[in-house]
Amino acid sequence: MTFFDQLATSVLDGKPATPDDALAVLQAHDSELLEVVAAASRLRREFFSNTVKVNYLVNLKSGLCPENCNYCSQAVGSTADILKYKWLQTDEALEQAAAGLKGGATRVCMVSSGRGPTNRDIDRVTDMVGAIKAEHPDVEVCACLGLLKDGQAEKLKAAGVDAYNHNINTAESHHDEIVQTHTYADRVDTVGKAKSAGLSPCSGLIAGLGESDEQLVEALFALKELDSDSIPINFLMPFDGTPYENTWELDPTRCVKILAMARFVCPDKEIRIAGGREMHLRSLQGLALHVANSIFLGDYLTSEGQAAEADLELIRDNGFVILGSEEHAAQEQRVSHDPVKRKRGAGTTLAPNA
Ligand code: SF4
Repeated sequence: MTFFDQLATSVLDGKPATPDDALAVLQAHDSELLEVVAAASRLRREFFSNTVKVNYLVNLKSGLCPENCNYCSQAVGSTADILKYKWLQTDEALEQAAAGLKGGATRVCMVSSGRGPTNRDIDRVTDMVGAIKAEHPDVEVCACLGLLKDGQAEKLKAAGVDAYNHNINTAESHHDEIVQTHTYADRVDTVGKAKSAGLSPCSGLIAGLGESDEQLVEALFALKELDSDSIPINFLMPFDGTPYENTWELDPTRCVKILAMARFVCPDKEIRIAGGREMHLRSLQGLALHVANSIFLGDYLTSEGQAAEADLELIRDNGFVILGSEEHAAQEQRVSHDPVKRKRGAGTTLAPNA
């Protein structure tokens, strides 16, 4: 039995992975990659079976941000060539959400650039959410609007928003290197506000920002502490015109190890492959699905993703089913009619958002 297999067994037995364990996963030799994936996939299968959650991102407002997040193409001072527009109209947001749902998504992530929403912005978003939920009552809606002020999370919750995304992005010890217009504590505060209002917290990180291995581990344990239900792992896309242009610290095997480390540290949480999937995982995207259990469909934020159909094929080709799809429903039915599988499935826990 390999070290990674023993680690998976001990996590399944209820003994959480330690920072040293996480570091060992991150620093595994490339020749051990399949052992790492095989062990992490035991945890992935235990908590999420063979399902992949598909999310679709609707960009409500793009560019024109006064914050200086160095990694972001929409930040003040960025000369990256991106689309810039003010708020979408409700019918445009509805149309985009419908396209994502038709493409197989079960969650729509409504994202806007900016430090945080005004109360007028919250009203705009709650109108959009009302329209989307009226037409698609089963959809999960996640809002990602920046730093929240008191009372705003409660308004979103009352309007039917299910989750709120606000990434911590990096370790507290590295945060001030990547942005100076707000603090790490500001970010943690918003995740706490969302959680207190009953929204499912979604918070993740960006790898490749010049952080050390120890800082990546620090960030993951902070997310564990925050009890984030969904953990998006982004891989830095070094846009020209931003301070990180030409910063290439990642390769596909390292990206898989980062995802595996997240799985060992937070075994029952939704680990989502987010920005930079195609650019950095490249031909290892299929392997990564054996560790992570969630992806964004097609385009996201200001970068081009693979076409939706290619994403769905990636899921199927690797032997997974889309959470909430007909294949998934049929499989659930088979399990519920099979007494042996039903008993075995009784201990399976899906994350609150799955
Ligand atoms: S606050 Fe958001 S949109 Fe603005 S620069 Fe930072 S990451 Fe980009």
